[in-house]
Amino acid sequence: MESNNSDINSADMPDCGNSDTALKAAYHTLGCKLNFSETSTIGRMLRDRGILTVAEGETPDIVVVNTCSVTEMADKKGRQLIRRISRDFPQATIVVTGCYAQLKPEQVSELPGVAVVLGSNEKLRIGQYLDRWLETHTPQIDVTPPREIRQFMPSCERGDRTRWFLKVQDGCDYFCTYCTIPYARGRSRSGSIADIEAIARRAASEGATEIVITGVNIGEFGADTGESFLELLKRLDAIESVQRYRISSIEPNLLTEEILHWIASESRAFMPHFHIPLQAGSDRVLKLMNRRYDTTLFAERIALIRKLMPDAFIGVDVIAGARGETDEEWRKSMEFIDSLPITRLHVFPYSERPGTAALMIGHTVPAEEKHLRTARLMQISEKKHADFINASIGREVRVLWEAPRSGSKTMHGFTENYIRVEAPLDSDLINKISTVLLTAESISELRE
Ligand code: SF4
Repeated sequence: MESNNSDINSADMPDCGNSDTALKAAYHTLGCKLNFSETSTIGRMLRDRGILTVAEGETPDIVVVNTCSVTEMADKKGRQLIRRISRDFPQATIVVTGCYAQLKPEQVSELPGVAVVLGSNEKLRIGQYLDRWLETHTPQIDVTPPREIRQFMPSCERGDRTRWFLKVQDGCDYFCTYCTIPYARGRSRSGSIADIEAIARRAASEGATEIVITGVNIGEFGADTGESFLELLKRLDAIESVQRYRISSIEPNLLTEEILHWIASESRAFMPHFHIPLQAGSDRVLKLMNRRYDTTLFAERIALIRKLMPDAFIGVDVIAGARGETDEEWRKSMEFIDSLPITRLHVFPYSERPGTAALMIGHTVPAEEKHLRTARLMQISEKKHADFINASIGREVRVLWEAPRSGSKTMHGFTENYIRVEAPLDSDLINKISTVLLTAESISELRE
């Protein structure tokens, strides 16, 4: 699953009133796009209950923290954030949810200022728990064991004024040996195509121009309902006012040839932009990780994307220094990754997670070596990304312009194949697509 550790600025969320007496809430998100989307849903639910969203500079009565637990570092960031909030707003009621809260509820409840801790099944019932806390001032801790997590609520939430996140699936049945997500989010479950299409149409009617399809393991969409991911994509593609769709991270074995052919030759609005986790470029390490593909399948998928969509952006996740990655496996892995015609790597140094099967694998990589491997992979990534960008300079591209932060004199947008472009602010172009000539000056650094 993709992780982008973004702190949502509560000021991004619209206010719904101006009462001086109503409670006010602030929202913070760590982790992936799915968390981001769920925080927006929580914000909307609280606003529906009359709880306003704080404006910049205001003091919140309630702070919701949606945590991540993808690495030990993510847990640490969650603890630091909660401590900082408690220091800055000692009177605020802190509500913590997300993967860290699901996996370590006791640890989270002991952090200063934390009044409510909610697991994955409980987070969308936050209003009830808040009511109980406000009435009784008794700490509320409720976490359903992962095997019993059943709740799924599709959502389509605005990330900013341009891009929306459509949640189509949650949980994962893959049990990769290094990963805690199946324990944090439960088994794979999906919405129905009819429900998802309805909420996407609602978002379209509210102005959604670009929608990113998210989930934990989105290629597993429909495994529990008998519906197909490709059919879902086709139904979404038919919503004409949505000008662009992107698929967030998808497992290589689930990004089928049929889906790729359809995107390349039949779809109206699916962008040539893919995010595919590789994790290791050695078959032996992939086996130890319990991944469902080998390097041959991965290389075939990348080659097919390049053949069908030569300019596609292909982002690839890699874990550096996983257990079992001996010097020999690392060498093979690096050579394999370097040989792939991909655009950019997202490199994560391997992080030991308590309770995972990976701890049974004997060979460990010393921290210093892990950092060297990370640095080497980052170099490969920078080179590939620079080549990708340089090859695009001088071309005419279509950019969807996004709303800038207030006060900014520039705006930015993305090309179809996810090159970030900057230009002087022209308010008439926000949320619209225009054709521009790509120059070295107009391309800005990609921040994810
Ligand atoms: S596919 Fe593997 S890495 Fe991704 S969420 Fe599932 S168990 Fe974790």
